Amino acid sequence: MDKKLSGQVAIITGASSGIGAGVAKSLSAAGAIVVINYPVPPVKDAAEAVLAEIKAAGGTGITAICDVSRENEVQKMFADTIQQFGTVDILINNAGLQKDAPFDEMTLEQWNFVLSVNLTGQFLCAREAIREFLRRGVDPKRSRAAGKIVHMSSVHEVIPWAGHANYAASKGGIMMLMKTISQEFAHKKIRINSISPGAIQTPINYRDWQTPEALDKLMTLIPYKRIGTPDDIGRAAVWLCSDDSDYVNGISLFVDGGMTLYPDFTENG
Ligand code: NAD
Repeated sequence: MDKKLSGQVAIITGASSGIGAGVAKSLSAAGAIVVINYPVPPVKDAAEAVLAEIKAAGGTGITAICDVSRENEVQKMFADTIQQFGTVDILINNAGLQKDAPFDEMTLEQWNFVLSVNLTGQFLCAREAIREFLRRGVDPKRSRAAGKIVHMSSVHEVIPWAGHANYAASKGGIMMLMKTISQEFAHKKIRINSISPGAIQTPINYRDWQTPEALDKLMTLIPYKRIGTPDDIGRAAVWLCSDDSDYVNGISLFVDGGMTLYPDFTENG
């Protein structure tokens, strides 16, 4: 892979597993210095393992503990990163989780928990990133943009999802957060976009690919007939963070094997 992000500093939230880990490896392979965020002490080993793999491949980075739903922890992670590496060029707003329940049984705690990590967490991290991008401005030696944010949304920013109202609402919210701040800061040369993954093989959805039966059922939703990998998302993230996409602002890039193509209509539309 070309070193399109050479020397740029990238914070990737929720990077000790799944898509975040995959994106961290791809950004590192493209030359970025990566900050591998994880939320709580028990996940430190997993984050360190991702970092060890990156270093073994010749990359540079650190791990950083921070619960993205807590303002003081987010501010500390950004301050520490800036102190150590001088600035931040890229934020991958990836941390997210599910607490599923039928809507009539969903507790306020389940609702608030998902919204606080998936949506408020993305607000808090994006705000700190934008403050740093505004402070530094464009440095042509780094990039044509003052900074780049990629929000990890989901096909469920447009596909309703029964039994997952909190999650779908958080992803719909991310879509308008992303578009609004992209509109607000484009003139400052800050580029803000989303990746909206379909089914990617990670711990969050292990029930969907664990058994051959579950995988067969999943395939009915995917015209391209394969489950996605974190690497599929990593390549898209490198493009969205590099100057190759310098004229791309405020989009949701669906990386979903066609899941948003209404596959139910293939035979009788
Ligand atoms: P994952 O469970 O492997 O990753 C989620 C990560 O978020 C974990 O590393 C977890 O430790 C971290 N996290 C949770 N709460 C956090 C907090 N408060 N602060 C910081 N980090 C926290 O699952 P994944 O599939 O890799 O999910 C990553 C993102 O991709 C999520 O936003 C998810 O909604 C989105 N996504 C995933 C899929 C998929 O099919 N896997 C599809 C669409 C969207």
